[in-house]
Amino acid sequence: MKFSTYAIHIGNEPNLQPGGSGDVVIPIHLSTTFARKKVNRPTQGLEYSRSGNPTRFALEKNLAALENGKFGFAFSSGLAAITNILFLLQKGDHVVSIDDVYGGTRRLFTQVFAKCGVDFTFADFSNSADLSKFLKPATKIVWMESPTNPLLKIIDIASVSKLARTMKILTVVDNTFASPFFQKPLDLGADIVIHSMTKYIGGHSDAIAGCVMVNDDHLAESFKFLQNAVGAILSPFDSFQILKGIKTLSLRMHTHEENAKKVVGFLSRHSRIKKIYYPGLIYHKGHKIAEKQMSGYAGMVSFELQGNLKTAVKFLESLKLISIAESLGVVESLIEHPASMTHSSVPKKDREKIGLSDTLIRLSVGIEDVEDIIGDLDQALQKI
Ligand SMILES: *Cc1c(COP(=O)(O)O)cnc(C)c1O
Repeated sequence: MKFSTYAIHIGNEPNLQPGGSGDVVIPIHLSTTFARKKVNRPTQGLEYSRSGNPTRFALEKNLAALENGKFGFAFSSGLAAITNILFLLQKGDHVVSIDDVYGGTRRLFTQVFAKCGVDFTFADFSNSADLSKFLKPATKIVWMESPTNPLLKIIDIASVSKLARTMKILTVVDNTFASPFFQKPLDLGADIVIHSMTKYIGGHSDAIAGCVMVNDDHLAESFKFLQNAVGAILSPFDSFQILKGIKTLSLRMHTHEENAKKVVGFLSRHSRIKKIYYPGLIYHKGHKIAEKQMSGYAGMVSFELQGNLKTAVKFLESLKLISIAESLGVVESLIEHPASMTHSSVPKKDREKIGLSDTLIRLSVGIEDVEDIIGDLDQALQKI
């Protein structure tokens, strides 16, 4: 089976057993508990909805398939998924994380888990050869995002995973920006994949959700335990919403990418655009690795305008179709200003060091007609 087929069918198999109703859409099982005939044997393995729910199980089976993994686990948000991964660690353990990591992840690392005695190093190891400089005897996890947010840096997932494996260090890839349609980190040798399903996987801006996918049986046991012990599970209703979104994931990803390429073409010919970040551009740093490890470049584009902070604000506030909003990877085009929105908690000095200038704009290209997206950008650029 190919991706578009299993996105629709895996986990969604109709129940044609006696008593099954043959629904082609998985029902939303709202029951919080499951009755049993025998005291010491739950019916079909179901006990209590935190430890297992048929709608969530359907989604989790589907999620594993999307990443070519053996196991999938659904959580109540991307950050809840990340929290459960960090619960694999103990006081004194060390994590090396890519410096351009998602802001909420950085906050969770430095303001929550650092207090529990986990030690973090943020570093740029997009050139995997640099990684060993940051490893310590206590290093347990290397944390990657590729492409990163908002500069779309690319990390060589296969080389980093290979090096980490020789030292028994777990590799985690936050694959939110690529989606499982364009990149499969488990196939590249990573141990754990996480997604904010709020973004491409769900795709419709109507559910906050996260997931973890793995191949290793021991890791799967740990996540099964943690999911129940911590309790940050995805609800049956949201599991249904995400399963519904996944059915069109491949269609959406094709269009996101096709539209993004046309938007990049338009921007690169425009005199008011100073710089464009898109992994599909031949001159993008990391393009060669992206070409090797991704089957497409998805729909996230960042760019810098000529001018200053005022120019950026004027441009954004002149847009009519494209909403100024956080989040990304959804059907509607969304645009944001990292310096005042998603990355405002990063001190200006640090922002400049990483390359987050005041005129940097991050655009999540939606699946509207691309002429309307470009038309809106064009009219707003004329106002600056
Ligand atoms: C949004 C996002 C998260 C956090 O996910 P939530 O669902 O908002 O909790 C984590 N990583 C990346 C790359 C994201 O874009």
